[in-house]
Amino acid sequence: MRTKRHLGQNFLTGTHYPSHIVESVRPMPDEHILEIGPGEGALTALLLGAGARVTAVEVDPDLIPRLQQRFGKDPRFNLLEADALKVDLCRLVDEGCRIRVVANRPYYISTPLIQRLIEQRHCLSEMTLMLQREVVERIIAPPGGKDYGYLSVLVQLHAVVARLFDVPPGAFRPVPKVTSSVIRLRLQRQSVVSLVDERLFLLLAQVLFAQRRKTILNNLRAGFARLGLESPERLPAILELASLDGRRRAETLSLDEMAGLANLLGSMH
Ligand code: SAM
Repeated sequence: MRTKRHLGQNFLTGTHYPSHIVESVRPMPDEHILEIGPGEGALTALLLGAGARVTAVEVDPDLIPRLQQRFGKDPRFNLLEADALKVDLCRLVDEGCRIRVVANRPYYISTPLIQRLIEQRHCLSEMTLMLQREVVERIIAPPGGKDYGYLSVLVQLHAVVARLFDVPPGAFRPVPKVTSSVIRLRLQRQSVVSLVDERLFLLLAQVLFAQRRKTILNNLRAGFARLGLESPERLPAILELASLDGRRRAETLSLDEMAGLANLLGSMH
């Protein structure tokens, strides 16, 4: 069957890497697992083989009959034809439960998918994701380097992150141009730093990273209205109160420092 590039279809081939991924998940018998983008079922088969109950969300209608044919007789398999970016994933989870997610991600939606999964963390506890290696580097980056940015802040705010292993292009069909990495995100019930207003914190992070080469003061001046300030005049004083030098760049700020600034801005509203 032809693969669809626009849906990010690079299917895992062979057994080595699918087994490595599912072994790192170590599903418990009867554990309910959510799989995003099952494709032809390379991971699905092993998850079911390990005794898990699998709910799989696949957007490509051409794959649905094949998946049904392959796994439809297994009462622990449940397939939903839907866009994982649009569907309410928590609807698929038993009331009050938090389940684990497994996804060999379509690269083209890595960031929105991660954002969407984090937003639904009240019903999701952990995600094992295969992503483009460079996206994983951005997710795990500590402050101070070129990889640290909005995605690092968003993920590190909500998850304890572990990079597991790399997967070479040759493990997929068709062969992608990039190396992939498998990463585990343990979603925390509460944000890692204490926040008065999480929405304001994320807005602030967007404003601070809007132009990476600019100082934080200049980025704040450009984005003051988005933060609910009436004018940019008080910004130098606000930065001083937060003990932050306005000449710094966002990539040098820790989560704690951003949280301090966000909480200060929140107290002024
Ligand atoms: N899990 C399979 C594997 O490892 O071989 C397939 C991985 S392939 C990289 C990504 C899969 O995600 C494809 O089957 C694609 O059709 C599906 N997909 C793409 N966008 C999606 C979306 N928005 N919602 C759900 N599935 C999606």
